[in-house]
Amino acid sequence: MKIPLLLSSIACLLGLSGALTVSTHAAAPKKLLVVSVTKGFRHSSIPTAEKVLADLGQKSGAFTVDYVRTDEEMAEKMTAAALQQYDGVIFANTTGDLPLPDKQAFLDWIKSGKAFIGMHSATDTFRGHTPLDPYVEMLGAEFKTHHAQAEVDCINEDPQHPACRELEASFHLKDEIYLMNGFDRSKVHGLLTLDKHPNDKTPGDYPIAWCKMYGQGRVFYTSLGHREDVWTPDTPENFKRENSKEVSEAYQKHILGGIKWALGLEKGDAKPQ
Ligand SMILES: [Zn+2]
Repeated sequence: MKIPLLLSSIACLLGLSGALTVSTHAAAPKKLLVVSVTKGFRHSSIPTAEKVLADLGQKSGAFTVDYVRTDEEMAEKMTAAALQQYDGVIFANTTGDLPLPDKQAFLDWIKSGKAFIGMHSATDTFRGHTPLDPYVEMLGAEFKTHHAQAEVDCINEDPQHPACRELEASFHLKDEIYLMNGFDRSKVHGLLTLDKHPNDKTPGDYPIAWCKMYGQGRVFYTSLGHREDVWTPDTPENFKRENSKEVSEAYQKHILGGIKWALGLEKGDAKPQ
């Protein structure tokens, strides 16, 4: 705030207040709804995720958050009419078939040019249906299974993209790594991937994070974010690992970049590679 204030003070002195004040005025923060309702497994990292997302919004000035934690809040805040006051949603470790008041209206709302950000078990939401649920089509894949938590090297597929440009060529961390069903590289823009199975290390293509357009809407998904110490180093001792500070700093840059991209605040490619 200091620089715009200073500039507008100078502008007033110079009698230029109109033009300069407008051009230096910071945009109002976007409004995001953080959804953490679960109908299946409930991650212990949800309160950590909610706090980190709020902090990232506040520190960056890019967005504010409101929460949907219960069925009642979902019924109230996620109707077609109520969604109009928000710029996007973050599904923060949701699971199962959520009681959205009108799923098609929700998907149409994203398509109209809103942001959908999915964290980790957002792919374990509306999953296991045949054919694939329309939510899964929007997101780009669904969770199939996972094995033991593993140390992996995520390959940075687009160092120009806001979600990846603060990361090295390879992002090393320990987390619970998802294997996906219904993933199609011709429909998404890859951001992070593994070139070998997370556990048995057999060569292959194991997507970790991607983005895509959905109508006019922007979708960003990262499967990372099971462990508390991936989100923040500020965790109970039993969750802590030696390199938690480096990992969580990189992870927070990854998700903040992805959120800003999904909100249309920063440019990045969404075309399939
Ligand atoms: Zn998990």
